[in-house]
Amino acid sequence: MVERPNSPVCPPRRVLMGPGPSDVSPSVLAALGAPTVGHLDPYFLNLMDEVQQMLRELFQTENSLTLAVSGTGSAGMETCIVNLVEPGDRVLIGVNGVFGGRMADVATRYGAEVRTIERSFGEVFSTEKVAEAVREFQPKLVGLVHAETSTGACQPIPEISKAVHDQGAMLLIDCVTSLGGIPVEIDEWNVDAAYSGTQKCLSCPPGLAPVTFSKRAVEAMDARSSKVASWYLDMSMVRNYWSGQSRAYHHTAPINMNYALHTALREALDESLEARFERHHQNHLGLRAGLEALGLKYAVDESIRLPMLNAVLIPEGVDDKTVRGRLLNEFGIEIGGGLGPMAGKTWRIGLMGAASTTSNVLLFLAALENCLQSSGYQFTAGAGIAAANNYFSNVN
Ligand SMILES: *Cc1c(COP(=O)(O)O)cnc(C)c1O
Repeated sequence: MVERPNSPVCPPRRVLMGPGPSDVSPSVLAALGAPTVGHLDPYFLNLMDEVQQMLRELFQTENSLTLAVSGTGSAGMETCIVNLVEPGDRVLIGVNGVFGGRMADVATRYGAEVRTIERSFGEVFSTEKVAEAVREFQPKLVGLVHAETSTGACQPIPEISKAVHDQGAMLLIDCVTSLGGIPVEIDEWNVDAAYSGTQKCLSCPPGLAPVTFSKRAVEAMDARSSKVASWYLDMSMVRNYWSGQSRAYHHTAPINMNYALHTALREALDESLEARFERHHQNHLGLRAGLEALGLKYAVDESIRLPMLNAVLIPEGVDDKTVRGRLLNEFGIEIGGGLGPMAGKTWRIGLMGAASTTSNVLLFLAALENCLQSSGYQFTAGAGIAAANNYFSNVN
């Protein structure tokens, strides 16, 4: 017989500086422990309204169909695709990392005729390349990843959006990692559908996926000739629960996760988006000063670097797993390894949401110096911390 666990859950305290989840602020964790109410309780219905209103502010949109899907970022991805795509529809997807690949997989599973355009990991698409593929393939939907967490590259959106719309297609973007860390301007950029997750720059535990759909996307859903292939993610039913007169039961919303998201959104908006983006930017530059002083190099060109996901090349002769293991076990710091072709070649250092702090930058650099020293890597002791401190003292 398997023995029943006899100790309570007691996770270690970590500093989460990987590709997500990121550190969760104490107020957000406390919200998870507030009393659960019913999913049709007037208190909860009002809270859902407020979540939607704050999500619109965060996405910088007036889209009425903006809500939090029950599930992680990938559920947001599936929601956007399954509601916009019918079997046989043409979908063009930009694959320059793991998440573009996932998007193509999801669209294929739901019966779309998928064509991909590809770039090496760490690179992004030019407007010309996307425009050419759209002209040739004439897709209904074009999917791109705004912040490719597997590589640390930021895909510029506004010009491409214009090219996509000039050919009559709709644009879907993955902003799982970008939302709350860099500007995501759904209306200004004319994006038709976007999804995100709670555990990256919103610093909430994983479990909900903010999504937003333009008027045109809603019209496309209303004009479908087939039923949405997923019952759970069917927006035509889910949206009646989130808004409108009926507030009809569809599935039980994860009540306490919505408390947590409400709290995280309020904190993000209280900080102001502008200040939040600036904080992510400055901590990235402080970290960069430190890493470069240690002789480390970024895996992504400066012009397209994400501030919340720093992908750096692991120096020659330094063992990836040894260093990440020591960071975790001796210093309580989690960073990410490389994914796909970058496995064993890069570290992915996250500065997301509540984890994007000056003290985390300094803590990480100190711990990294310790690990590099015992790997036999040559550098000037203290140089990383000195450079970061120098950067911070000049900006503050
Ligand atoms: C994390 C992430 C996802 C997937 O989100 P999950 O919460 O792990 O399901 C999708 N896209 C990007 C860009 C991500 O960073």
